[in-house]
Amino acid sequence: MHVVIIGNGIAGVTTARHLRKQDSKVEITIISSETKHFFSRTALMYIYMGHMRFKDTKPYEDWFWEKNRINLLQDKVSTVDFAGKTLVLEVNAPLKYDMLVFATGSKSNFFNWPGQDLPGVQGLYNFQDLESLNARTPKIKEAVITGGGLIGVELAEMLVSKGIKVNFLVREGLFWGGVLPKEDAQMLEEHIIKDHHVKLMLNEELHSIQGDEIKGVSAVKLKNAGTDIACQFVGITTGVSPNVAFLKDTDLKIERGIVVNEYLETNIPDVYAIGDCAQIEQPTAGRRPIEAVWYVGRMMGECLGKTLGGKQTAYKPGPWFNSAKFFDIEYQTYGTVLAKPQENEERFFWKHPTKYEAIHICFDKNTKEFIGVNVYGYRLRHEILDKQLREKVSVFTFLEELPNANFNPELYRTNEAAIINAFNHAFKTDVRVKKKSWKSIFNLAN
Ligand SMILES: Cc1cc2nc3c(=O)[nH]c(=O)nc-3n(C[C@H](O)[C@H](O)[C@H](O)COP(=O)(O)OP(=O)(O)OC[C@H]3O[C@@H](n4cnc5c(N)ncnc54)[C@H](O)[C@@H]3O)c2cc1C
Repeated sequence: MHVVIIGNGIAGVTTARHLRKQDSKVEITIISSETKHFFSRTALMYIYMGHMRFKDTKPYEDWFWEKNRINLLQDKVSTVDFAGKTLVLEVNAPLKYDMLVFATGSKSNFFNWPGQDLPGVQGLYNFQDLESLNARTPKIKEAVITGGGLIGVELAEMLVSKGIKVNFLVREGLFWGGVLPKEDAQMLEEHIIKDHHVKLMLNEELHSIQGDEIKGVSAVKLKNAGTDIACQFVGITTGVSPNVAFLKDTDLKIERGIVVNEYLETNIPDVYAIGDCAQIEQPTAGRRPIEAVWYVGRMMGECLGKTLGGKQTAYKPGPWFNSAKFFDIEYQTYGTVLAKPQENEERFFWKHPTKYEAIHICFDKNTKEFIGVNVYGYRLRHEILDKQLREKVSVFTFLEELPNANFNPELYRTNEAAIINAFNHAFKTDVRVKKKSWKSIFNLAN
């Protein structure tokens, strides 16, 4: 049997690894047009900033693939003949498969701005984007980034690290305002503007890009201010969407992404989809149909690897979790904390008086069930938060267990007392911190 995986990102590679663990005989081929070897996409920024070399971002040594008999093919799949179970490739001869896995990831969204194809205008998604940004960098004195999300802020940090002046356009009235509550967004805005001197322009959008084919971008026109900004680079970070355009005229069911059931099966037998390109037909409560984050790709890959190896495994994600970094501020989110509270929700926000350390807690105002939390400037332990959310503990239990949940209990012990005091004051409660358990210190499951 020949299993072919299109895409050598976290989703495709995890599938291959888990399949090989289960089945020593199956033939496995991974195809990717981006790079020969799997690398950590989340580390692209560190390569640019000189903190890591490309080879440091490869989670496996180059000999790993041959040792585990995973064939790597660097080529682009132009189309798929599902009836003939054959892939048409750009360079190599057509390739037959018995089982096919789409793990084709995302692409940057471009919204047909005039001038968007000029040299110096690009997204930040793949290795080729990093190469073109590297090539352009010596020419950049001033840049415009449009789209205030996680990739936009990473791109801002990258450019700032090279001494480039950055204008950051954000369509909403708050930074990442569709996702973050107001207090959180305002704290991050302060950090981005004051500490890193980025010109953050809220309620602003790109109108058009000017320049020529030889020198590339020279300025942008803004939608609302009506003024131009002279610049030599435009970063488009207005979100990503599933990379599925090459499959549009086939029998594969595609909505925004490739539609799959809980076993990650598509509408075509022996064809699966995972990671950023997959759209779950009926997501579990609190989860979205498409979740373009690293650990979702890993979890889906693990499930599918087991299934293809003969142990059918449903994809059952637990409570939502994500983490990122906004310049110097680490961010984690667990469960659900929407930008605006729902009718049944109560919110509690605490921020350290002088540091960028904060917590935003969401709970049910009637039942007091803990619904979710955003944490900034320090980290909570995933296994504890995951357990609390699965067990639907009360906000009081969540607070009592904060010292156990804190990833750095010794350093940050003072925050817990301050957080709980402020909570007690705000809600007239009498929550007390539970003594720190040795299990948590040594990172043992409770
Ligand atoms: C700059 C950046 C920072 C990020 N930071 C974070 C973070 O901090 N935390 C987090 O959770 N997530 C982060 N993400 C998102 C995360 O990296 C993605 O969710 C994850 O990499 C998706 O994995 P995947 O395996 O589904 O697809 P991908 O990693 O996109 O891999 C898909 C591969 O398939 C190849 N491919 C596609 N079509 C074809 C074809 N027709 N023929 C051949 N090959 C093809 C592509 O070239 C690509 O190599 C970040 C993303 C970016 C771009």
